[in-house]
Amino acid sequence: TRKHRVTVIGSGNWGSAISKIVAENTKAHPTIFEPEIFMWVFEENYQLPSDHPKYDASKHSSPQKLTTLINDLHENVKYLPSITLPSNVVATPDIKAAVRDATILVFNVPHQFMGNICKQLEGAVLPYARAVSCIKGVEVSADGISLFSDYIGKRLGIYCGALSGANIANEVAAEKFSETTVAYDPPGHLTPLPEELPPVDHSVMKHLFHRPYFHVRVVNDVAGVSLGGALKNVIALAAGFVDGLGWGDNAKAAVMRVGLMEMQKFGRMFFQETCRAGTFTEESCGVADLITSCNGGRNHRCAMLSVREGKSIEEIEARVLNGQKLQGTSTAREVNQFLAQRGLEKEFPLMTGVYLILSGQAKVEDLPKMIEREENDK
Ligand code: NAD
Ligand code: 13P
Repeated sequence: TRKHRVTVIGSGNWGSAISKIVAENTKAHPTIFEPEIFMWVFEENYQLPSDHPKYDASKHSSPQKLTTLINDLHENVKYLPSITLPSNVVATPDIKAAVRDATILVFNVPHQFMGNICKQLEGAVLPYARAVSCIKGVEVSADGISLFSDYIGKRLGIYCGALSGANIANEVAAEKFSETTVAYDPPGHLTPLPEELPPVDHSVMKHLFHRPYFHVRVVNDVAGVSLGGALKNVIALAAGFVDGLGWGDNAKAAVMRVGLMEMQKFGRMFFQETCRAGTFTEESCGVADLITSCNGGRNHRCAMLSVREGKSIEEIEARVLNGQKLQGTSTAREVNQFLAQRGLEKEFPLMTGVYLILSGQAKVEDLPKMIEREENDK
């Protein structure tokens, strides 16, 4: 029988951590998966620092291709430093070659790059491939709002589920315990897999992602899982703002509570047929991700530093993230564009407040007043 070939599209902080997990599992379950996985890398040159433990002056005195460094050193030295990647992860800069034979695709890139990536992948993937999106963000266009799982599925003509949870990448990569949620609910009318391939179901999803240190619950609510991951990034900015002012734990808890209510309301108003309210409160992709992101996430950290230092969040992002990308800033703008087009900004005062602060139209000190009316507006 044939086995599934898995490719991860993306090799940033989380892209690399997920590649590590997937490669551990393809190796552990060789009857279901080909052990070797491709990890597509957006190629760049990188100068390995001379104090890196694997620095070799004969090879590394000038910048090298990141794919070469990853394959030689088994480490994504730029985006996930100090973590050894399994040797069955093969980094490749050629996106079409990376997907050509892949029967399972895992998408894990900052959401703003997905339009361009889909353009390159249209017509290049197997018609019976199945996909999972680990992307935390939403796609907003003139037609409205869509989840990346749906966006990828439509553009590539395949089915795509979602993975999202309370998963700070560096902690997961260091094999510190966490949980995640995978949503997978394919319709009946997909291009069938060749008979010799195992059907891609909840059990295969669990075999692909579950580790002793990374507990997976598989559910059907793709909308709830995707929305939790996208919207909490906006709330984490608000948490960072109030921490930047030194307002303390009560203020942050208030922002998180209101944020959770707005996340649920967003699901109810715009994804009513598909989104389950319980997903936000019962699964890792909801309240748990909100908590971790409002404490240890990059959106929180950059928002906090921008208030402390009186600088724009873009300036902080460029200075402290070494090429990693915030998702909350663009998501705040995208959500606001979607709400403003419908005259619904007042229904989501915290998400709107974050947008107004980011665009210089409000001050962080205004947040309590902005969210006050939410109390009477269930
Ligand atoms: P990242 O923030 O590390 O971003 C850097 C990546 O973007 C690099 O691989 C870089 O090569 C790539 N990139 C830069 N310019 C590009 C371009 N023009 N086209 C394509 N790629 C380009 O990325 P990440 O942390 O892997 O995040 C991916 C997704 O995972 C995001 O939606 C994020 O919200 C989500 N996520 C991240 C974490 C985390 O802790 N990092 C945890 C859970 C989920
Ligand atoms: P940040 O992108 O804010 O770091 O959030 C990481 C995350 O999604 C944790 O689950």
